[in-house]
Amino acid sequence: MNTFTESEERQALRAAVADLGRRYGGEWFQRKARGGEKTTELWTEAGKLGYLGVNVPEEYGGGGGTIGDLAAVCEELSAAGCGLLLMVVSPAICATIITRFGTDEQKQAWLPRFADGSLRMAFAITEPDAGSNAHKLTTTARRDGDDWVLNGRKVFISGVDEAAAVLVVGRTEDARTGRLKPALFIVPTDAPGFEYQPIEMDIVSPDKQFMLFLDDVRLPADALVGSQDAALMQLFAGLNPERIMAASFAVGMGRYALDRAVAYAGDRSVWSTPIGAHQGIAHPLAVAKIELELAKLMTQKAAALYDSGDDAGAGESANMAKYAAAEASIKAVDAAVQAHGGNGLTAEYGMGALVAASRVNRIAPVSREMILNFVAQNTLGLPKSY
Ligand SMILES: Cc1cc2nc3c(=O)[nH]c(=O)nc-3n(C[C@H](O)[C@H](O)[C@H](O)COP(=O)(O)OP(=O)(O)OC[C@H]3O[C@@H](n4cnc5c(N)ncnc54)[C@H](O)[C@@H]3O)c2cc1C
Repeated sequence: MNTFTESEERQALRAAVADLGRRYGGEWFQRKARGGEKTTELWTEAGKLGYLGVNVPEEYGGGGGTIGDLAAVCEELSAAGCGLLLMVVSPAICATIITRFGTDEQKQAWLPRFADGSLRMAFAITEPDAGSNAHKLTTTARRDGDDWVLNGRKVFISGVDEAAAVLVVGRTEDARTGRLKPALFIVPTDAPGFEYQPIEMDIVSPDKQFMLFLDDVRLPADALVGSQDAALMQLFAGLNPERIMAASFAVGMGRYALDRAVAYAGDRSVWSTPIGAHQGIAHPLAVAKIELELAKLMTQKAAALYDSGDDAGAGESANMAKYAAAEASIKAVDAAVQAHGGNGLTAEYGMGALVAASRVNRIAPVSREMILNFVAQNTLGLPKSY
C-alpha cells in the first residue's frame, strides 16, 4: 500500500479549498489587512462549506474527519495567500479539547458552532511574566460556592476581538496538596471583569493580538472544561494539533511566496533571458521547494500519528514539523523577496509583508529554541539547562 500519498478524499478536499482560496487570494487578503478590515467573508464561506469543522464529530454537525484534514484546509488557504490564523486556535485547539474532554453539555453548547464556523474561540496561555515557561503562569481560579473567580493577565492573544469566548489556561489549587495545577476555562468575551487591549504589531494581518485583563471574572461551574484533574493531559491534547496547524500554516505561506516568485522570475527579463534562468535566483527557489516538501511530509506524519491516537509519538513529530515548516517558510519568503528585486519590498507585490508574517512562524505558538530544547532533551536525552 502506498502510504506516502494522501487519500483521494483528502486530495479532493485540498483541491476544493484551493479553489475557494483562489477566489479570494493574497491581494484581497493584504488589502483587507492594510485597510484595518477583517476577512470575515472568507471565514464565513469556509465555515458554511464545512471546511472549518472538518474535524468536528458528525453527531455535532461536523465533517467527522481528522486533524490531518483540518491541516490540509489550513495549508491550502495559506498557500492561496489568505491563511486564516484563527484556524490554528479555534477549530484545532479549542474544538479538539472540548471534543475530547468536554462534558456532554459543553459539547452540545459549543461543537455545533465550531462545526459551521459560526463560533470563533481564542486560546490564551501566554503571560507577560511567564512567556515560554508555562510553570510560571499566575492566572488563577478560585472556587466561590459553585462559581469560579478568575484573575490574571495574558499577552499576544490572537483574535479576541472576533471571538465569542476565550479558552483560558489558568491554575487552581489542589485541594489535597495545596499546589497549583493547570485548569482550562471557557471565558465569554463579554464577561464582566474581562477586558482586552490591542497590541500594536508590525505585521500585515487582519488578525490582531491582544493583552487580556481578568479581574475577578466570575464564571459558572461549567466554565471549567472537563475535569479539574485532567487539565495537563487536556492541554497537551490541544497543543499537538496547534503545532500541526502552525506547521501547515507556515508550509502554505512558503508555497504562496514560492509560487509568486516562480511566476515573477519566469516572466521578468533584464538581460537576454528571464531572471529565473540565473542559478543565483533559481537555486534558492529550488531549495525552498525541497525544504517545504520535507516540512510538509513531516507535518503529514505528525497528523497521521496524532489521528491514530499516538499522542506521545505525535508530540515529537509535531514539534519537528513546526520547526521545519517555520524555517522553510522563512527561507522561501526570503528567496521570494530577493527574486522580486525592488518589487520584493513594494506593497503591490506583497512579499515584504510576508517577511514579518513568516518570522512569526519561528516564534509562535512555540519558539524555535523551545522546540530544540524539546528535541535535545526528549529525543536525544541530553540534560536540561533550565
Ligand atoms: C503573532 C503572534 C500571535 C500569538 N498568538 C497567541 C495566542 O493566540 N495565544 C497565546 O497564548 N499566545 C500567542 N502568542 C504568544 C507566543 O506563543 C509567544 O510569543 C511565544 O510562545 C514565546 O513567548 P514569549 O514571547 O514570552 O518569549 P520568551 O519566553 O520571553 O522568549 C524570548 C526568547 O528567548 C528564548 N528562550 C526562552 N526560554 C528559553 C530556553 N529555556 N532556552 C533557549 N531559549 C529560550 C525564546 O525561544 C525566545 O527566542 C502569539 C505570538 C505572536 C507573535
